[in-house]
Amino acid sequence: RKFVFVTGGVMSGLGKGITAASTGRLLANAGFDVTAVKVDPYLNVDAGTMNPYEHGEVYVLKDGGEVDLDLGNYERFLGVDMTSDHNVTTGKVYKHVIERERAGDYLGKTVQIIPHITDDIKRRIREAAEGSDVCIVEVGGTVGDIEGMPFLEALRQFASEESDEDLLFMHVTLVPDSKNGEQKTKPTQHSVKELRSIGLHPDVIVGRNERRLDADTKEKIALFCDIPTEAVFSNPDVDDIYHVPLMVEDEGLDEYVMERLALAGEALPHAER
Ligand code: ADP
Repeated sequence: RKFVFVTGGVMSGLGKGITAASTGRLLANAGFDVTAVKVDPYLNVDAGTMNPYEHGEVYVLKDGGEVDLDLGNYERFLGVDMTSDHNVTTGKVYKHVIERERAGDYLGKTVQIIPHITDDIKRRIREAAEGSDVCIVEVGGTVGDIEGMPFLEALRQFASEESDEDLLFMHVTLVPDSKNGEQKTKPTQHSVKELRSIGLHPDVIVGRNERRLDADTKEKIALFCDIPTEAVFSNPDVDDIYHVPLMVEDEGLDEYVMERLALAGEALPHAER
């Protein structure tokens, strides 16, 4: 099984979820069974108690799970039904670990973020991915948020437990324009530096800007973030978010991801689905 971990840099509301869902859509088009997991670092057990004016609409799944709106994007982009197990929140993880501690499951051990919380995060991701060829795992919030740290640490451990060709880290980041219209890469450099300080190294960087990234912007990001220029992609503003898969396909994101995950040329059992 393959995993694509999607993190966000600089600020939220950037289009990380849409980029992740679009990547999933393209892999589904190539014939793979794709599912998704949304990791939400907030302490709410689920989104059902959150103010929609503050957090956006609560999305209700077939199993009655009240979850983050992003799950709605995944269901619509991927054409699959998901369960509440596909939304992993800090609240769910801690509640479960604390209940197990009260039940005496840890046999007198000191219960800690590492390994007990991180183990539970990894277990939930693996269980939600069961039955799929590729699982897209989107980490809510931005790299550097205190709340997100246990999740990023869990991903770091995940990477050391799986072989290199079974997982890919995609970092979606803001590339703002300066007053004179120049695409600025400094915020991206800083967020990648932050990622690397916790032991994660992006394989692919997707830059959000009004327009496509210029060739020299891509080269600069590649140089400073230590990835090949071919691994830097644009996700420009579009009028209709359902055009995003086409925009990123146009730059070859799907081909790069499949190549990197050793999926290129694989049998396509469900192609033309
Ligand atoms: P994040 O996951 O980074 O918080 P989302 O994927 O939820 O962000 O997107 C935030 C908002 O930006 C949504 O309203 C979404 O429709 C919009 N959006 C995302 N990508 C694009 C794009 N390429 N062009 C225009 N709007 C976009």
